[in-house]
Amino acid sequence: MTTKTDPHDCNVPADGSRLMSVDEAHARIEALIEPLSGEERVAIRAALGRVLAHDVSATVDVPPYTNSAMDGYALRGADLEAAVGQGLRLVGDSFAGHPFSGSVGPGECVRIMTGAMMPDGADTVVMQEATTVDGETIRVATGGKPGMNVRGAGEDLRAGGIALASGTRLKPVDLGLLASVGVAEVSVRRRVRVAFFSTGDELCSIGEPLREGCLFDSNRYTLYGMLTRFGAEVIDLGVVRDTREAIEQAFRDAAAQADVVITSGGVSVGDADFVKETLDRLGGIDFWRIAMKPGKPLAFGRLDGGAYFFGLPGNPVSVMVTFYQFALPALRRLAGEQAKPALWLRAPCLSRLKKGKGRTEFQRGVLVTGPDGQLAVDTTGSQGSGILHSMSVADCFIRLPAESGEIEPGTMVDVQPFEGIV
Ligand code: AMP
Ligand code: MG
Repeated sequence: MTTKTDPHDCNVPADGSRLMSVDEAHARIEALIEPLSGEERVAIRAALGRVLAHDVSATVDVPPYTNSAMDGYALRGADLEAAVGQGLRLVGDSFAGHPFSGSVGPGECVRIMTGAMMPDGADTVVMQEATTVDGETIRVATGGKPGMNVRGAGEDLRAGGIALASGTRLKPVDLGLLASVGVAEVSVRRRVRVAFFSTGDELCSIGEPLREGCLFDSNRYTLYGMLTRFGAEVIDLGVVRDTREAIEQAFRDAAAQADVVITSGGVSVGDADFVKETLDRLGGIDFWRIAMKPGKPLAFGRLDGGAYFFGLPGNPVSVMVTFYQFALPALRRLAGEQAKPALWLRAPCLSRLKKGKGRTEFQRGVLVTGPDGQLAVDTTGSQGSGILHSMSVADCFIRLPAESGEIEPGTMVDVQPFEGIV
């Protein structure tokens, strides 16, 4: 019979081994993972969601020339007073794409449209609504400041400066930014190839009749979605039965094709949980049990041949929590992405939260406007690790530290908003 080595230490499971803290698990993954090599050149439209392999410099100023921010009249700032009094003489027009070719002298002005190039000599624009026209004479109702309503060349990006840094995952705005500096193609990192499968004799695939004592395999779909949103090249290896042979074969197939292998289920201590022992044979496990809930049995390691391995627990919520907390940062690192650290906010919790001491919990929450108009968080309700619905209605994790017990309403808690990956 096994006994706890220290009955007061909640992080010591029945087999006497210590559970690893969430922070230590993060640090280990970070230390072990190096970005993958390999890049390809793609047209910028095809680069959406890909990770930039090198810095992209601006070859031109954006905007390329100093231009007007308003429809109105371009003039010399020193003439603003005269413009209010005797008025200025209109000497020409500057339209977008059709600049004024002359120069604006003292006492003169040029009609100008938004985005049109500022004529030589002029440094100030008075908006049309503030002017009156009397033949060739333009008068300004009230003064203003020299330099007003003008957008300087290069005020968005300077030629020679970095428009986008290596490691940026390209968003729609970045495609626009690349186009603004005339870049048609970029080098992006190759996608991370991820093979995944579900384990369990109780699993039925959708499309099959549901057999007695079985349930539909949902993890493979959640994983497919999260991996696709992340931008992986996904290799779905289906449902694998709980036998040593089947699991070993699936691992061999997966390792031959992928940079990362992700499995769900089979990492607990049940009789048919063969994932851990197979991994021990085909590679090495780096850690095994984490002081978190849900998701205690999480395996991380490397298979012979080099593929990284994440053995996620089988419970549907545990899969998502462990993916989001551990696999996703690892995938981002592999992809060469310079990701911002996870954003954590502090918010009062509106409801009581059940919590036992000993493990960090990632409960599911909903961000709301509190009674005082400030940010607050509420629970999604029942927090069982099989209640996938709790993830569906949630928009954040509520992270409760290992040492904390039950949370009273009004207590400040740490909240991590989801970033569109769930
Ligand atoms: P395991 O980690 O294999 O012991 O599985 C833990 C729990 O998660 C069991 O109740 C399983 O039936 C359930 N489970 C495992 N894999 C899946 C899956 N792919 N889809 C839905 N539920 C699953
Ligand atoms: Mg199982």
